[in-house]
Amino acid sequence: MVQILDGSACSKEILNDIKLKVAKMAKKPSLAVILVGEDPASQIYVRNKEKTAKELGFISKTFKMKENTSANELKDLILNLNLDEDTDAVLLQLPLPEHLCARDFIELINPRKDVDGFHPINTGRLMSNSNPYALSCTPKGIIRLLKKYNVEFEGKNAVVIGRSNMVGKPLAQMLLNENATVTVAHSKTRNLAQIASSADILISAAGVGGLIGKDFVKNGAIVVDVGIVRDENGKIKGDVNFEEVSQIASLITPVPGGVGPMTIAMLMENTLELSIKNAKF
Ligand code: NAD
Repeated sequence: MVQILDGSACSKEILNDIKLKVAKMAKKPSLAVILVGEDPASQIYVRNKEKTAKELGFISKTFKMKENTSANELKDLILNLNLDEDTDAVLLQLPLPEHLCARDFIELINPRKDVDGFHPINTGRLMSNSNPYALSCTPKGIIRLLKKYNVEFEGKNAVVIGRSNMVGKPLAQMLLNENATVTVAHSKTRNLAQIASSADILISAAGVGGLIGKDFVKNGAIVVDVGIVRDENGKIKGDVNFEEVSQIASLITPVPGGVGPMTIAMLMENTLELSIKNAKF
């Protein structure tokens, strides 16, 4: 019988715990979110982040910049936030408008305030398993959720579908740091079903609705669906054909209610952790 990996419940517990800690802090953690342009999905994400941060008692500041913001304007804002002692964590909402290169601006964020863990100092420290200031929120949330359900990683075959800098690559590294044997598949991979079905732990972050059917899954495998895709009726679904795969998996995340809520919980946890580390620095 399959068990659901309940990201909503796990996230609620983490957020409650953060709220209790913040209530006892004299100086509240402070999160600055930068939103450039009018991307509708980004506006919703930023609103949710701000709402959650405020509910936890954080100081939450959102900087909304015009679509045609120049590189210098964005650079000035980031450098000012780096210097601002009242800002613990800086999040640059992606994607940026086409004329701005995300990588350039991520590299400007002080790694000690890089709440998404995307700065090369933090990704490099993740690679060498040596204390990044922050770990990328979605992969961190996946590992946390699996641990909550007592999943063991050591010696397991983990297959990650997707090699993005935001999800696939940091996730593969975190699994490796947990002593899993990791395979990373992507859009050019041949025989994806064969590779995926060798996995004890299969994590799909391709963003292709229904990509993972039961032919991709070994009996009893643990399946994590990172994908967020809208169907023709605007309903959110994932990469995994849940109906089919839940008949053979041992543990599976739903979409929604799996990885999504864990991502936001990890963003809040990272903000809290950066504020504590920065206060000691
Ligand atoms: P991306 O587009 O940057 O990367 C997608 C990756 O999947 C690429 O590496 C690509 O090679 C691979 N891929 C694409 N089609 C494939 C196919 N048919 N077979 C095998 N591999 C294929 O996307 P991303 O930012 O990594 O996000 C991936 C998905 O996860 C998206 O649906 C995104 O919305 C979702 N996401 C969810 C959360 C969350 O909190 N739930 C967070 C981040 C991203």
